[in-house]
Amino acid sequence: MAIPLLFLIADTGGGHRAAAAAVAGQLAIDRPGEFDVAIIDPVDSPSPGVLSRTADLYGPLIHHARWLWAAMYHATNSAAVLSLMRRSALRPLRRTLRRMVETERPSAVVSFHPLLNHLAAEAVHASATPQVPVITVITDLVDIHAGWACADVDAVVIPSPGGLARCRRAGIPADRCHQLGLPVDSAFARPFPDDRERRDLRRRLGLNEERFTVLVCGGADGSGGLPARARAIAGSGLEVGLAVICGRNDRARRRLAGLRDPDGRSIPVLGFVDNMADWMRASDVVVTKAGPGTVSEALCSGLPMLLTWYIPGQERGNLEWLVNIGAGRYVPRPRELFDAIVELSAPGSPGMAAMRAAVASAARPQATERVAALIAGMADGTAAVA
Ligand code: UDP
Repeated sequence: MAIPLLFLIADTGGGHRAAAAAVAGQLAIDRPGEFDVAIIDPVDSPSPGVLSRTADLYGPLIHHARWLWAAMYHATNSAAVLSLMRRSALRPLRRTLRRMVETERPSAVVSFHPLLNHLAAEAVHASATPQVPVITVITDLVDIHAGWACADVDAVVIPSPGGLARCRRAGIPADRCHQLGLPVDSAFARPFPDDRERRDLRRRLGLNEERFTVLVCGGADGSGGLPARARAIAGSGLEVGLAVICGRNDRARRRLAGLRDPDGRSIPVLGFVDNMADWMRASDVVVTKAGPGTVSEALCSGLPMLLTWYIPGQERGNLEWLVNIGAGRYVPRPRELFDAIVELSAPGSPGMAAMRAAVASAARPQATERVAALIAGMADGTAAVA
């Protein structure tokens, strides 16, 4: 019988679900039929009340009141405040998690969200099976919120050296810290595309094969002023290919419908796609917000980043890191974006070569395999639990 695993996420943005699905997909590849993974968003159940309403507000807050999101992020970014929240606003969620552990009877519980780690550990430790391993997989990249740093779990998967330092400061023993990188779908964990693959993909996706191609996206919610960026590039007269992925942002997709390039060819403007790896591998550069999932996927696709936006709190550090290592440039204004595309799209551009080299040295395509192996070993008892 397959070993049951419980993966806990929340659909705030798309990064938590994408990482959980990536690990589940990797387990199915590496050990087919051995695990039965339930990916559950406990915040989206009827009982969690205030938290569920806050999660519903995440998209609107990110789009229309970034300052308020930043204030909430920083106000909750301490162990003391989080402990208070667990005893008040998060209590219904704790009950939900306890019920889930009793009904699913998992052999391991894995949390992919900063507010679920302590609650998952409490739920397991209060259940009839307190020995079941609890694992945190951090899905932020550089700035690690206090909620991630839970010392009551058996293992913490950490994406970066900065994250490791944060977890050690929070009292997590070294043997429970696993700095493995951020999981991305196996479709991204392939050798970088060469020119031929790029051309083939462009043809299949309805893009001009020969042109330098710019992909514009903004995470699962299509945030960060997508329509303005896409229009600025399409209307610039630059001879580049363009594709726009709006994710769940239907309004942006409607506003951009009918967008055409300088030759009058229609530009693909899509909603939520499930083949992001194809779009990234077909492109030469991505214009995006600094979301951890998108950033890790772009690195694994050999794709330099033009960063136009970030969610304050968890994404600012990503942007600074990418700019520091040379894999990304921060170009919030249309003029800066235009100049960067002109420079990078020039044949033999030294700037482009330097960015590609920086991307190659930062990519962690093996992360998902390693994370999946750790979880599998802890669930089936073949890996020692620290
Ligand atoms: N994504 C996708 N299809 C879309 C838009 C986004 O699969 O149409 C995925 C993207 O590949 C990434 C995730 O959604 O895995 C977005 O995560 P990120 O951390 O970049 O931003 P968030 O949405 O969490 O703010």
